[in-house]
Amino acid sequence: MTKRIFRSICTVALIVFAASLILIMGVLYSYFSQVQKSQLKMQTNLAAQGVNREGLEYFDGLSTENYRITWIAADGAVLYDSKTVPSEMENHLEREEIVEAMQNGYGESARYSVTLMERSLYSAKLLNDGSVLRLSISQNTVLTLLLGMAQPICIVFIIAVVLSMVLASRLSKKVVRPLNELNLDEPLSNEGYEELNPLLKRIDSQQRELKRQDAELRHKKEEFDAVTKSMNEGLVLLNEKGTILSINPSAMRLLGTDSGCVRKNLLEVNRNIKIQEMLKTAFHGENAEAVIELAEGTYQFDVNPAYEDGAVSGAVLLIFDVTEKEKAEEMRREFTANVSHELKTPLHSISGYAELMKNGMVREADTVRFAEKIYTEAQRMICLVEDIIRLSRLDEGGEDMKREEVELLSLAEGVKKSLEAEAAQAQVEVIVCGEPVVISGIPQLLNGIVYNLCDNAIKYNKLGGQVLVDICSGESGATVTVKDTGIGISPEHQNRIFERFYRVDKSHSKEVGGTGLGLSIVKHAAKIHNAEIRLQSVAGQGTEISITFPWQGP
Ligand code: ADP
Repeated sequence: MTKRIFRSICTVALIVFAASLILIMGVLYSYFSQVQKSQLKMQTNLAAQGVNREGLEYFDGLSTENYRITWIAADGAVLYDSKTVPSEMENHLEREEIVEAMQNGYGESARYSVTLMERSLYSAKLLNDGSVLRLSISQNTVLTLLLGMAQPICIVFIIAVVLSMVLASRLSKKVVRPLNELNLDEPLSNEGYEELNPLLKRIDSQQRELKRQDAELRHKKEEFDAVTKSMNEGLVLLNEKGTILSINPSAMRLLGTDSGCVRKNLLEVNRNIKIQEMLKTAFHGENAEAVIELAEGTYQFDVNPAYEDGAVSGAVLLIFDVTEKEKAEEMRREFTANVSHELKTPLHSISGYAELMKNGMVREADTVRFAEKIYTEAQRMICLVEDIIRLSRLDEGGEDMKREEVELLSLAEGVKKSLEAEAAQAQVEVIVCGEPVVISGIPQLLNGIVYNLCDNAIKYNKLGGQVLVDICSGESGATVTVKDTGIGISPEHQNRIFERFYRVDKSHSKEVGGTGLGLSIVKHAAKIHNAEIRLQSVAGQGTEISITFPWQGP
């Protein structure tokens, strides 16, 4: 802008300078021409008086340096000429100024020379004898004048150019300075040009609108960040090139990156081929999902395309933790397979024995034995089904079961009573000792815990062995300890015996009527009571399992 103003001012100054020069030259030229003309007329009159009085003698010794004097007879013949020999000159009767002088007593004319560089002024006066005296003077034309003044004009021109450049530069800077110094942060505080006020008002209102929109956007972004930050699910927003626009902390953790990944391509952050393929699908306008195993677990990735004006403008990637779900699914599958397997064995036995009996292949004397076998297998199935039902109820969390005050010592006495037959059969002595302790819990589950522990302690005991059930209370809670002098559990099995259908010795377990679910039930029931299980066992010596119920239940 400064340059434009500078150039405009310079151009205007130069045009004004040239126009002034032309005008002044014109005016001066016409003024000086007039002066010259009137002087020439006056001198012609003076000379005419001299010639009238003295005739040809007037010209003797006359100095005519700047003038040319010509005396023309009434017939046009030249009688005297100060520059040329009169006889060589042609007849002058036709000359404009001579004709005029002969008619009016005085005549004038002006003629340009061939080169147009010079102009001659003629002034003629009629003398008393009818002859005419003519004075002529040569005058410079404007062109000559200009050429003659070229040097001073050039100097003046250069001065004018320099002056106008200096002034233009200062002026343009002065004009532009208030514009450069405009405070656009507070447009209405400016006091420069009045003409700028509508523009400044407009800028002010637009700035206010921008600030409002900015605050609104920031507020929305903060809301969005707050929501996505607290999400357990990973959320990644991508543009149409796969560049990360936004990523929440969960997604950063799962993809093993940090906040520096924003503005980077997802490909640079994670090279998982499945994710890349899903992104491609989303960019083609279709939803995609896949379950991917990451270091931390199993995750479901959902990629959905985002649209703008009907075209795919990006994608939204959602990552859900499905580790527990997958585990539960896996456990369910395993459990179903185990249950089918466990049920199949007694069913095959029952079916086999029954078939033999049906075909009359069993002797009369063996019928009772066979019936007993069928009964035992059926009992095993009943136990198994009951345990499965118990477990599935426990899987639901036991929320529908009522909590009550339960006294553990009498509960243990009750269990001892109900297992009297088994203990007697296994020749195992069961001793209940300790103090009466009351806790808040679900009676059936607490009974199930003590029953299963005592049942195992009897089942996996030695002939003449002992089972000691101890109830005591401590700072951390009430503890039930079931200690036996049985076969014990070797260390490699100790971690696994609480798994469903896990048995150290399958055939021995079956022999003693085990389902492989007893300790799973104990583990679940203890979990519902927030109780802690501790196991100590030495193979061949015995096992001690203690469960501590915290005073404050869950
Ligand atoms: P089961 O119905 O087979 O007894 P459990 O879940 O109750 O199933 O126990 C799982 C396995 O743990 C048993 O098969 C047994 O091998 C072992 N076990 C449990 N309790 C004892 C114990 N007191 N002494 C020795 N082994 C035991």
